[in-house]
Amino acid sequence: MDDTGNTGYDPDAVRAKYLAERDKRLVPGRSAIRDLSADERFAHFRDDPFTPRTDRSPVTDQPDVVILGGGIAGLLVGVELRKAGVDRFRIVDVAGDVGGTWYWNRYPGVMCDIESYIYLPLLEELGYVPQDRYAFGDEILAHLESIADRWDLRRDALFHTNVTEARWDDARRRWDVHTDRGDHLAARHYVLAVGILNLLKVPEIAGMDRFAGHAFHSARWDYAYTGGGPGRPMTELGDRVVGIMGTGATGIQVVPQLAAAAKRVIVFQRTPSAIGERGNRPTPPEFATNLRPGWQRARMDNFQAVMLGRPVDEDLTQDGWTHHYAKVQNPPRKQPDESFGDYLRRAEAIDFGIMEWHRSRVAALVDDPATAEVLKPFYRYLCKRPCFHDEYLSAFNEPNVTLVDCPAGISEITEAGPVVDGTEYPVDCLVYATGFEAELTPLYRRAGHPIVGVGGVTLAERWADGAASLHGMMVRGFPNLYAMPAPGQQAVVTVNYTQLADVGAATIGSTIAAMVERGVERCEVSEAAEAAWTEQIVAGFVDGSSVMAACTPSRINNEGHPELLNPRNGNFGRGFGDFFAYRDLLEKWLADGSFEGLELS
Ligand code: NAP
Repeated sequence: MDDTGNTGYDPDAVRAKYLAERDKRLVPGRSAIRDLSADERFAHFRDDPFTPRTDRSPVTDQPDVVILGGGIAGLLVGVELRKAGVDRFRIVDVAGDVGGTWYWNRYPGVMCDIESYIYLPLLEELGYVPQDRYAFGDEILAHLESIADRWDLRRDALFHTNVTEARWDDARRRWDVHTDRGDHLAARHYVLAVGILNLLKVPEIAGMDRFAGHAFHSARWDYAYTGGGPGRPMTELGDRVVGIMGTGATGIQVVPQLAAAAKRVIVFQRTPSAIGERGNRPTPPEFATNLRPGWQRARMDNFQAVMLGRPVDEDLTQDGWTHHYAKVQNPPRKQPDESFGDYLRRAEAIDFGIMEWHRSRVAALVDDPATAEVLKPFYRYLCKRPCFHDEYLSAFNEPNVTLVDCPAGISEITEAGPVVDGTEYPVDCLVYATGFEAELTPLYRRAGHPIVGVGGVTLAERWADGAASLHGMMVRGFPNLYAMPAPGQQAVVTVNYTQLADVGAATIGSTIAAMVERGVERCEVSEAAEAAWTEQIVAGFVDGSSVMAACTPSRINNEGHPELLNPRNGNFGRGFGDFFAYRDLLEKWLADGSFEGLELS
């Protein structure tokens, strides 16, 4: 029996089952994706269906700062700069407006499974209380637009604009930022706030380009085809068969909406997600009246502490992240008289209990036992990003929803539709809910253009063997360049991205403001500071490859190759990272004012 009361737990049998399920998915070519920047047949998948692109004249300017990205990260940097009185900055974004990931992801059912009270930024400053415990995408986007309005962040912004090159000129001490609109922005400081969900992942499947139906990626939802809109039912699918590929955090939110609107929905599932409870509910009126100044930071800290296994008086969030994720991530300590092997087995039993809970939830919610079996996740909880939804699993009880199990992927797409195990599934429309080049894609690729530093060296060249930085935000050889902290970049990882963005924006905004105020034209990380930070990251790298190798392949274990994870791309403070130590260090670094580790001139 494990600690959650499950009986019949046979660790060897469980491990064997997990490995067998992994092996079904560990097939050559599973991670093959298209490079949309070089793929003419699919480049249009990136087009903006939401805002018409308008012609404009090229802009020539010498701003203090260019911020690449108008999502949460870029907006928060903008707010910091405005507050500090650094007004000559421009946000540049390939999207038609602010919002970043929430601008693009307007698919039906889009929501955030991180509690709204800690996810929506700057709630106190805006005096806003989210409508529900978990916010839908339209509310989040509207809130980000309110932030832009409140701090006038669209002023001087350049939307529908793609940076084609950023090159440092050491003589003029400026970044020459060039765009596909012919703009030339000679910026003193350049901030990369591109996020990790900006590059669409579109798989490479034989015959894809022959498909004669309609196809799009979930992050460019085509409401012109489906009818409806975010929060409004789709009206044009009543006589259409829709196939959807991908059952991650996006796919599971879309499926119930398609089930309600389409003649037939075919869900192509490679790996089932673990679907925990969401438990959304309207914000009770007393929630707002009980709030005291500083509440949002305190609530974010409370969530973060639980996620890091730190003691708290009360878990304020009380959801699947804090009940399940935190529990698996931070198993009870090893007892002094316990062997390490016994300790690992105890942690494994906790994991098993939580996964059994997820599997029994599938069995309870899905009527057809064969379908339920395919929807059950057989791997350890942290092998994949967990998902939370209350309508996804029961959508498979609808007569118009079919689940197609394809652990080895879709073998081919014909003119009519996907082929799995020799069976062709004709569809009118195929939705690629296949995600993004997220955590493991290096910053220089996510930035989407050459970043050329001192001596003509690109960031891609500089980081060819892995990241090197100070604080995961600045790089030697790239003066006045700042990258918002993100996974794979020597910072920390947080489940609630907004809290990390807060820290990054405060650090970068205050550093730039100080440089502008002091008339510093060039600030560059010293060789010693970069080496010391990088050494610390490498020393703290936790080689979990033996555990991760047993995982089902996913983004988290490098699609089944955790041995290739580079210690230099690790986090501050071991493993997942120590958020509180990271923030303390940065706050002290800023308060000290000497900008230790930077060479200023
Ligand atoms: P994702 O988690 O990467 O999932 C992509 C899905 O596509 C997976 O089910 C994957 O299968 C499948 N897939 C990929 N290539 C395939 C192929 N060749 N054949 C068949 N299936 C294929 O992407 P996502 O769902 O868009 O989520 C991405 C991230 O966005 C999340 O991890 C999260 O950070 C964020 N997100 C957050 C929320 C939220 O509520 N906070 C909501 C949506 C998204 P495998 O599992 O087998 O790889």
